[in-house]
Amino acid sequence: MANYAFLGPPGVGKGTLAAEFCNARGMQHVSTGDLLRAEIQAGSELGCRVQEFVSSGGLVPDDIILDLMENFLTGDSDTGYILDGFPRTIEQAERVEAMAETIGFRLVAAILLEASDQIVVDRLTGRRICRGCKATYHLSFGPPQQAGLCDKCSGELYQRGDDQEETVRRRLEVYRNQTAPLIDFYDNLNRIIRIDASSDKATNFAALSEKVP
Ligand code: AMP
Repeated sequence: MANYAFLGPPGVGKGTLAAEFCNARGMQHVSTGDLLRAEIQAGSELGCRVQEFVSSGGLVPDDIILDLMENFLTGDSDTGYILDGFPRTIEQAERVEAMAETIGFRLVAAILLEASDQIVVDRLTGRRICRGCKATYHLSFGPPQQAGLCDKCSGELYQRGDDQEETVRRRLEVYRNQTAPLIDFYDNLNRIIRIDASSDKATNFAALSEKVP
């Protein structure tokens, strides 16, 4: 089955659009950020090793991420994967290419979601997440009916520590230095699909659905 990676700066909407895309096409959504946060919340050994990197807005070392993903992905998934937030460095991307030989895992394309820094900073700093069902809200663009509470399950809404403005700026810098080089990497392989993700969710999703076969 087809596998895709979603690429783009923090806050561009990778998680939201990947979840919707997977729903629409019956694919499996794999978010490395969600996997790492679940480990941190569970207080596992892996969670303890990665906590510092995640909360500072830096990247978790490649060997830890690659161990996690190499155990997780298989080449013969019936549904195909949407990789959300992975690969994030050239080293990770090269190891994903090598998985074609080892486990038969192939990326059809990297889907690059694009929006300006100002847009992504506004989206991230206003983002709130339900502790219960993980639904996301935005204080300005999609607030809950009752402040601080989830519309779906009445769970408490919280702000991710790394969504505070200073850490968001650091995550953007990390993106520019370490992840943006992947754009040329996939472009050179003729496997990049560019999507303008600067509008509202419905418009961005329509653009995505139209451009991805
Ligand atoms: P995200 O939810 O995708 O914004 O990821 C949150 C944080 O998890 C990032 O700021 C990194 O610290 C870490 N992380 C997620 N995916 C990766 C990855 N592929 N490589 C390294 N660190 C990652």
